Amino acid sequence: MLDLKRQYEPLRIELLEAVGRVLETQHFILGEPVALFERAAAQHLGVAHAVGCSSGTDALWLALAAAGIGPGAAVVTTPFSFFASVSSILRAGAVPVLADIAPQTFDLDPAAAEAVINGPRGSAVRAILPVHLYGQCVNWTEVARLGGERNLKLIEDAAQAWGGEWQGVKAGALGDAAAFSFYPTKNLSAAGDAGMVTTNDVALAERLRMLRQHGMRRRYFHDEIGWNARLDSVQAAILNVKIKYVDGWNRARRSVAKRYHAFFHAAGLAECGPYPEHGVVLPHEVTGSRHAWHQYVIRTRRRDALRQFLSERGIGSEIYYPVPLHLQKAFEGLGYKEGDFPEAERAAREVLALPIFPELREAEQETVVRAIADFLS
Ligand SMILES: *Cc1c(COP(=O)(O)O)cnc(C)c1O
Repeated sequence: MLDLKRQYEPLRIELLEAVGRVLETQHFILGEPVALFERAAAQHLGVAHAVGCSSGTDALWLALAAAGIGPGAAVVTTPFSFFASVSSILRAGAVPVLADIAPQTFDLDPAAAEAVINGPRGSAVRAILPVHLYGQCVNWTEVARLGGERNLKLIEDAAQAWGGEWQGVKAGALGDAAAFSFYPTKNLSAAGDAGMVTTNDVALAERLRMLRQHGMRRRYFHDEIGWNARLDSVQAAILNVKIKYVDGWNRARRSVAKRYHAFFHAAGLAECGPYPEHGVVLPHEVTGSRHAWHQYVIRTRRRDALRQFLSERGIGSEIYYPVPLHLQKAFEGLGYKEGDFPEAERAAREVLALPIFPELREAEQETVVRAIADFLS
């Protein structure tokens, strides 16, 4: 599914030297490598401020807390994402209100979000937290319109979307704030846990810096209850090396995606969708956007049997995500039930992520597509 050693090998010396330099200083918390990375990341994404932190999950919490989203507020988000998209809202003291996804992109459907905002729970809504799932930006034109009309904070979960764009604007520069994760499987990754919040708002950036360090502006003087959510120097040193290569890696991901498309079409398996019939529905790049190709996710009817078949042939695949968030035990208290979000539930039954990473070889992709063709015939 993912061979990180292929990325490490050519960077080995550069990475070891970068980590070595941090060890020589014996300064590990925040520090110069973090400040350097924050400047490089902000420039890369075309955003005024970047604030490094300990994980994508903490980035989501920090973004919400800094934007003043807490007790009494409701936040609209998607039921089809990683757990943290919803848990971070609860951590911030707010209430998640879910709206179904658009079946072609798997992202929050702005029309469904609007219906929720117009519904009985709508009056408490203070923010929308869309997720750019798999690297495809949510329909930001519609999200921004909705946010503007209702004066809502817009917080991107951009954990999977480093390098993604909506109408020429990078993910991370679209909303009031955006959360990134540098978890080892992400497009830009650390050697452990790391994350970042981006914003164009100087006051928000200052608040983020305070909250990531126990609400301190001045050492041992605590203005608010923040948390320890800092980025450490070793992770930042690694990210400073890798950020130089990430555009090239994303171009390689795009080539991998293009080849999958071509192979599936050549094999006569590609269907238009949004729902599969006898073949596979290929992932969709919305016109005017740039997919970051974090994942290459197909839809197919006999998904679990296909995954088993691939696994027996030594081919990795993954299900992101098998249980929609409204059906997670931990979120029982939200009061949702099966049937509430049919698109998310159907996606959870049909999606299968195929191997995609910059160093994936054409012959390996051929093997994957041939195996899927064998299964479907
Ligand atoms: C990875 C991810 C997160 C959480 O990031 P961590 O760094 O693992 O805490 C949040 N949201 C989405 C959509 C993710 O993919």
